[in-house]
Amino acid sequence: MEAQSHHRLNVLFLPYPTPGHLLPMVDTARLFAKHGVSVTILTTPAIASTFQNAIDSGFNCGYHIRTQVVPFPSAQVGLIDGLENMKDATTLEMLVKIGYGLSTLQDEIELRFQDLQPDCIVTDMMYPWTVESAEKLGIPRIFFYSSSYFSNCASHFIRKHRPHESLVSDSHKFTIPGLPHRIEMTPSQLADWIRSKTRATAYLEPTFESESRSYGALYNSFHELESEYEQLHKNTLGIKSWNIGPVSAWVNKDDGEKANRGHKEDLAEEPELLNWLNSKQNESVLYVSFGSPTRLPHAQLVELAHGLEHSGHSFIWVIRKKDENGDSFLQEFEQKMKESKNGYIIWNWAPQLLILDHPAIGGIVTHRGWNSILESVSAGLPMITWPMFAEQFFNEELLVDVLKIGVPVGAKENKLWASMGKEEVMGREEIAKAVVQFMAKEESREVRKRARELGDASKKSIEKGGSSYHNLMQLLDELISLKKTRTCEKPD
Ligand code: UDP
Repeated sequence: MEAQSHHRLNVLFLPYPTPGHLLPMVDTARLFAKHGVSVTILTTPAIASTFQNAIDSGFNCGYHIRTQVVPFPSAQVGLIDGLENMKDATTLEMLVKIGYGLSTLQDEIELRFQDLQPDCIVTDMMYPWTVESAEKLGIPRIFFYSSSYFSNCASHFIRKHRPHESLVSDSHKFTIPGLPHRIEMTPSQLADWIRSKTRATAYLEPTFESESRSYGALYNSFHELESEYEQLHKNTLGIKSWNIGPVSAWVNKDDGEKANRGHKEDLAEEPELLNWLNSKQNESVLYVSFGSPTRLPHAQLVELAHGLEHSGHSFIWVIRKKDENGDSFLQEFEQKMKESKNGYIIWNWAPQLLILDHPAIGGIVTHRGWNSILESVSAGLPMITWPMFAEQFFNEELLVDVLKIGVPVGAKENKLWASMGKEEVMGREEIAKAVVQFMAKEESREVRKRARELGDASKKSIEKGGSSYHNLMQLLDELISLKKTRTCEKPD
């Protein structure tokens, strides 16, 4: 066990059921447990099953960590049993129903808070009401944000000053006010709910506002990556925040942990995949993934397949199926790639951490989900950036314009996969061109060098004496002091 002094501190984690939020929170919970904290993760049954193996093995190693489940109201919201994870929703309607199902659990979750009497709750940004729950219990609520300081600051200043509203066209550029770098975007690259007031605005604004009403915020980032934005965030919101990433690299050290993260069963294809990767030269393979919920429309899959093939470079491509019916074009493409050994298709879920750490991988095509970014940075890999929706266009600006470790494919429109139409499809020529330029070692020499340097910095940050390590210790010490003060103040 890494530290003893944080025993007796009981911390409850409440994750949101989509891998981009869930996986870093579970990693963080495991990190707390490794440092002597008594940890409970509160979630619904199907979600618990995706990480229970990691919790059991932590428990068997002597850590105080467990899961508590609250039943999910599947029948009440009209979903089949076990459909609780946003990544398993194949339509917008299913996503909405999962969200509604979660909202009905508030009373039950508050009862569990009372029963479990935690010293602190770490809750996902999507549960703003937990600010009041924590107040009632007289304990701190820590806001857990699963993206960058940069994106949070950018979104904050755009929502505050609304610079996009004075433009005559959605394709004209505006400069984001308040940031230390000159960052330009177009209104089309903003999420709908920021661009104009929609129903989603009324739903999402309170989640962001709840940050400044919280005791503090946890960020899965590290000081050396975005220190100016960490500072700006502190100055702007006036609350404490702790930068403790990259948590995935901190707690998933061995191949088994990397391969099975976020997945219920052991992945059957792993030995075949590793054999394929082992047969490739160092830094010669591109990993292509659009994160967990995104299911590209058929027309885009076809263009991407041609673009990757025409680039002439080896690739691993994770494709999330839209439905269980086979797609004959993709099946034929997979067969062709098996024969040529140039491409490796993974259906639905890939052991991403294991793949990114393999020496054959030379870069990643990513949708700019924050976790995939941090995982690529940890592995010292540069990226082709292909943002799709939410804050992903902000993350692209951070990677391309500030950190200079990303090369844009040229995405222009912020659209949720479920509402993506033909007009947003990226053509095969653009894709092949971006891949060829990116994989050419001469052209991307500087980008690769910076990515490697940041990879080294990320590794140091989570070692003893590193910035994230220091922040975690500081947070745990502070929570212990708060607990002591509270216990001493309690009437007999
Ligand atoms: N992930 C994975 N295998 C997959 C797809 C995703 O392990 O096939 C993990 C990935 O490593 C990351 C998370 O799921 O930790 C996705 O989060 P991210 O923020 O990158 O994107 P999102 O899924 O939220 O769009």
